[in-house]
Amino acid sequence: MSLSDMHVHTYFSSDSDAFPEGQIERAIELGMRHIAITDHQDHDLPPGGRTFLLGETGDTDAYVSAIHSLQDQYRGKIEVLVGVELGLQPHLGPMLDAYAASHPFDFIIGSTHRFEGRDTEEQELYEGRADEESARRYFETEFENLRATQAYDVVGHLDFVLRDLPSRNENFRYETHADVLDAMLLYVIEQGKGIECNTATLYRGYGQPGPDTSIIRRYRELGGEIITFGSDAHRVQRLGMAFDEAKQIVQDCGFRHYCIYRNRRPVFLPL
Ligand SMILES: [Zn+2]
Ligand SMILES: [Zn+2]
Repeated sequence: MSLSDMHVHTYFSSDSDAFPEGQIERAIELGMRHIAITDHQDHDLPPGGRTFLLGETGDTDAYVSAIHSLQDQYRGKIEVLVGVELGLQPHLGPMLDAYAASHPFDFIIGSTHRFEGRDTEEQELYEGRADEESARRYFETEFENLRATQAYDVVGHLDFVLRDLPSRNENFRYETHADVLDAMLLYVIEQGKGIECNTATLYRGYGQPGPDTSIIRRYRELGGEIITFGSDAHRVQRLGMAFDEAKQIVQDCGFRHYCIYRNRRPVFLPL
């Protein structure tokens, strides 16, 4: 039996062409018992950004009802959970709370894809200062995002900025950012939220999941128990990718359980 994939995109996200049926059937093939479809919803983005998704004018009701029909269609074969990946920004807090409350999501990933008014992909962000400084600004914004809203269950790819820094994740050391990271992890734990182990950076050759193993280990040391696994697959071929490696990493960090979510409540499963 394979770990359940809790971070999966389909054509409801503007950066994916994958049919939800294809993702679900791949999950069944891999022996998963649950899959969460977590398409992007980013509010207040400048036009042309990469993660504009269900969209300002996008129809979340249509999305939710499509996933609910698939839930019925695949009942008995796999449990399909209705998720969303929300793009967090400090000024969106109350609006995201209202959005989350008005749809019957099983699971919400809170992701910081932007800081200082730009997408992490925009290299202008990194000009004229050390990568450590950029990473710090990212973590500070992320922490601010998490304090601004309750509209998330786990923190998506907590060190996302490391994908796009000019030096990528090569010079990342937990100790450099221990103050802000410790504070953020303690806050997440105290709020009853969790983190995810995102395998996209593993299968893209960064040698680490998102977040870095040192962050997962520290989260556990500080008392964190809630962790989900997500491939962040935008294509069927990537569903569940690098899960064996990720499972080993998470076990080595001291976890004996991982989570899925139903009705926005964590369910613990043995690792
Ligand atoms: Zn993301
Ligand atoms: Zn994603």
